[in-house]
Amino acid sequence: ATMPPLLSAIALAGRHGVLIKSAVVMEQLADTTVVAFDKTGTLTEGTPRVAEIHPVAGVSAEELLRLAAGAEHASEHPVAAAILAAARDRHLAIPAAADFTSTPGCGVRAIVDGRLVEVGSPAVLDEGRHGEIRSVASTVQAAGGTAVVVTADGVPAGVLAVTDRIRPAARDTVTALTAVTGTSPVLLTGDNRGAAGRLAAEAGITDVHAGLLPADKVQRVRTLQHDGRRVLLVGDGVNDAPALAAADLGVAMGRHGSDLALHSADAVLVRDDLTALPAVIALSRRARRLVT
Ligand code: ADP
Ligand code: MG
Repeated sequence: ATMPPLLSAIALAGRHGVLIKSAVVMEQLADTTVVAFDKTGTLTEGTPRVAEIHPVAGVSAEELLRLAAGAEHASEHPVAAAILAAARDRHLAIPAAADFTSTPGCGVRAIVDGRLVEVGSPAVLDEGRHGEIRSVASTVQAAGGTAVVVTADGVPAGVLAVTDRIRPAARDTVTALTAVTGTSPVLLTGDNRGAAGRLAAEAGITDVHAGLLPADKVQRVRTLQHDGRRVLLVGDGVNDAPALAAADLGVAMGRHGSDLALHSADAVLVRDDLTALPAVIALSRRARRLVT
């Protein structure tokens, strides 16, 4: 017996490492007119590392890293993993933290060594009080890195430069998606303009939106939809969940994806293989021709 076209398409997609959650999703993939990518963990490998440590005068590199690692201990963000790995590489004892809170798209805060330690994007810094580390952060960003600022009780302790590698398949995937959808993919990221611009150039993306909070990503998806587009969004993080839900189709990265992203998505790239995306859109088109 032969399977209905949509079901065999789902089975075939599975062989490409794409988990499609329903026949409706399999069918709707064909309508995609633009693909929007998150950056960290999606277009990049999602295993960033701490490339530079810039403590302020009077603070050692070890102390800066120790405080940051303490505050990040409970975070599942790739930046947190980079900071914890750097601390472990140096055999630092990671201090216990209390009252951990995280703000998606911004950073984390926790009580470490009795001090309120904040670790995150320079966007949250107060211009007046933090002028000196702001300029270090700007230099890191201009070079294409992610500047992670650390403060203790509101006083700057330093800046970490975090860098991530582009996925080797990113550029070819962007080219293939442009061919299959007729529109160049878009980059939506919470990271800074410098890091976003550099990655976008490497991936061949020209439509770049940086510094977006989770709600801004949703807004960007809606703007694309207002222009009559059917948006497929690919993301991995907790912060991507609202945008994955807002997009016509949400696709989560399987290996690096957070549980919330996996849950919010209509499909999952089980092996984090971006090249499967244009393949399943083409597959959906073929299946639909057989259905109708
Ligand atoms: P993306 O959209 O590229 O996946 P996010 O929205 O997750 O990025 O994060 C945006 C920015 O917020 C990061 O580049 C980083 O500067 C900061 N940030 C988010 N979470 C953390 C964290 N746990 N620790 C430090 N910085 C963070
Ligand atoms: Mg991400």
